[in-house]
Amino acid sequence: MIPYTAPVRDINFLLGELFEHASLDLPAFSETSPDLIEAVLDEAARLTEEVWAPLNASGDREGCRLEGDQVITPSGFPDAYQAYVEGGWNGIGVAEEWGGQGLPEVVASAVQEMLHGANMALGLCPMLTAGAIEALSQHGSDELKSRYLEKLVSGEWTGTMNLTESQAGSDLSQVRTRAAPGEDHYLLSGQKIYITWGEHDAAENIIHFVLARTPDAPEGNKGISLFLVPKFLVNEDGSLGERNDVVCASIEHKLGINGSPTCTLSFGEKGGAVGYLVGEQGRGLNHMFTMMNEARHKVGLEGVGVAERASQQALAYAQERMQGRSSKARGGVPCAIADHFDVRRMLLSMRARTDALRALALYCAAQMDQARHDEDAAIRKAAQARVDILIPVVKAFSTDQAVEITSLGIQVHGGMGYVEETGAAQLLRDVRIAPIYEGTNGIQALDLAGRKLQRDGGEALNALLEDMGETARQLQGGVKLRPLGDSLTLGISDLQAAMKQVLEQGRDDTQGPDAVQAYATPFLSLAGHVLCAWQMGHAALVAQAALDAGSNDQAFYRAKLAGADFVLRHWLPIGRAQRAVIEAGTQSLGEFGVHV
Ligand SMILES: Cc1cc2nc3c(=O)[nH]c(=O)nc-3n(C[C@H](O)[C@H](O)[C@H](O)COP(=O)(O)OP(=O)(O)OC[C@H]3O[C@@H](n4cnc5c(N)ncnc54)[C@H](O)[C@@H]3O)c2cc1C
Repeated sequence: MIPYTAPVRDINFLLGELFEHASLDLPAFSETSPDLIEAVLDEAARLTEEVWAPLNASGDREGCRLEGDQVITPSGFPDAYQAYVEGGWNGIGVAEEWGGQGLPEVVASAVQEMLHGANMALGLCPMLTAGAIEALSQHGSDELKSRYLEKLVSGEWTGTMNLTESQAGSDLSQVRTRAAPGEDHYLLSGQKIYITWGEHDAAENIIHFVLARTPDAPEGNKGISLFLVPKFLVNEDGSLGERNDVVCASIEHKLGINGSPTCTLSFGEKGGAVGYLVGEQGRGLNHMFTMMNEARHKVGLEGVGVAERASQQALAYAQERMQGRSSKARGGVPCAIADHFDVRRMLLSMRARTDALRALALYCAAQMDQARHDEDAAIRKAAQARVDILIPVVKAFSTDQAVEITSLGIQVHGGMGYVEETGAAQLLRDVRIAPIYEGTNGIQALDLAGRKLQRDGGEALNALLEDMGETARQLQGGVKLRPLGDSLTLGISDLQAAMKQVLEQGRDDTQGPDAVQAYATPFLSLAGHVLCAWQMGHAALVAQAALDAGSNDQAFYRAKLAGADFVLRHWLPIGRAQRAVIEAGTQSLGEFGVHV
C-alpha cells in the first residue's frame, strides 16, 4: 500500500504565494503569522500521515458492526479520533470565544482536506461536528451553548445532522418526525435514516441535531424546527446523565466509507427522546442551512483530499510498474508505464485537476474569512455573495471530478487497480457518495442556476468574471503565457453567454423552471471548469515569476506551469463544450418525457 503524503508544499504555495495570506490582514487574525500557519500544517501532516492514513485500508476491510444498539467502529479508529481531539484539531477554525483556536477558515479547510485524504471515513466524524458547532453557536440559546458547545468544540462529544427520512430525501418538506412540547423540553419520536456517525464508540456523548415538526405546525418547510437531542442527557453540572430515548436500529452496508457508520436512528421508542429547540420554531430548515453550507464546502474538500491521494498513488505505481518500451526518440528501452505519453496524460490530468480543485476550494475558504471578518461591511457583503456562488460549485464540481480522477487512478493501475490490494478501488468506492450526500450534485446545480444566479441577476458571478478577465489579460501580457490567457478568455466568454441564457430562461414563466433544470448541471460544470482555469492561470503567473526570478525550486514551479497548461489548454476546452449543450435546448428532454 502506498503511503499518503500530505500536500503541504502545494497548500503553502496557495496560501502564501497565490493568496498572499490575505486572511492574515484581517484584524481577527492579527496575531497569526505565516510561520504559525506553516507549523500548523506540518503538525496536521504528521497526524494525518502517521495516525489516520495507516487505518484507511484496514477500516475499509473491517467496517463497522452493530452489537445490540452499540456500534463498534474499526480497530484503531477510536484511538485515532482521540489523538485528533488531544491535538486540539477539532477547534482550530472555531472562534476563540467558543473555545476554539480562532485560526482562519482557509487554514482549517486545508487541514480538512488532509484529514479526508488520509481517511475519509474517519474524517466524516469531525466534519459533522463542525456543522453542529456552527448551528449551535449561531442559533442556540445561551443555556444550550453553555451546556454543549465547549465539549463539541474540543471534540470530546461529536455532532450529527439528522435530516433524512425514508420519504424525505432531497425534499425535506416531507419530514415527519414529531416533537411534542413538554415543560422545558420537547419529546421527539420518529425515524431518521442514513445518519453519519449517528452511533459509535469513539466519543462519550453524541449530540444529534434533528429536524422535526411540532404538533400544530403547518405542512411544508415552514413547519419544521431544529432540535438538539443528546445521546446521554447532560446534568446541570455538565456531567452525563441518563441515556436518552434514541437508539441505533441498524447500520447500512455500503459501497464505500465502510469505516463510517451510517445509522438508522429511532427516536422515542420508550415515550419520547428529550430534545431542545434550537433557534426559532418553524425556522429549522433555515438554521440547518447554516450547518449544510459549512458541510457542503467540506464535502468539496473531501473530493479534493481523495483525488490527491489517488493522484499520489497512481504516480507512485506508474513509476514502478515496468511495461513496454519507451519511444524510439527516448531510447526505445524497457520502461515504467509513467514513461508512456498516454499514461502521462492520465497522471497529469489527475494531478492538474486536483491542484485546480484545491485552489478553488481554498479560494472559497479565504473568501469566507473575508465575509466573516472584514471591517468594511460592503466588502463582507460582496465576499459573502461570492461564497454563495462558489459553495455549490466547490461541492458538486470537486466531487464529480474526484469520481473521475479516482476512476482514472484505477485505469493507471490496469488490472491491479480493479483488485483491492492497491487501494485504488477503495478511493473510488469511498468518494462515490460525495456527489450524493449533503444535497445531491443535481440539487447543487439547481441552487446555483435556479436560485443564486436568479436571486442577484448574476451580479456576484459578474464580479468574479471581471476578476477572471483581469487574470486573462495578465496572462496575455507576456509572451510565454499568452496561449493560456487566450484560452481563459474564451472560457470567460462562454460562461458569460451561458449565464445570460440561464438568466433569460429563469425569467420565462412558461418554460423557465424546466429549462433551468435542464441547463443547471451543464452550467455548473462550465462554471467549475472556468473558475478552476482562472485559479490555475493565476498559479501560472506566480510560477513563471518565480522561475524568472531564478527560484532554486525549479522543479516545483515547472510542474505548476505544466499543470496550468494542461488545465487551460487541454481540459478547459472540454468544459467549454457545455455551452453548446446549453444552447442545444431542452427538446430531447421534453420528447423523452413523452415516452417515460
Ligand atoms: C452514506 C450516506 C451518508 C449520509 N449521511 C447523512 C447524514 O448524516 N444525515 C442526513 O440527514 N442524511 C444523510 N444522508 C442522506 C443523503 O443526504 C440523501 O441520500 C440525499 O440527500 C439524497 O436523498 P435521497 O437519497 O432520498 O435521494 P432522492 O431525493 O430520492 O433523489 C434521487 C435523485 O433524484 C434527483 N432529484 C430529487 N429531487 C429533485 C428535484 N426536485 N429536482 C431535480 N432532481 C431531483 C436527485 O438529484 C437524485 O439524483 C446520507 C446518505 C448516505 C448514502
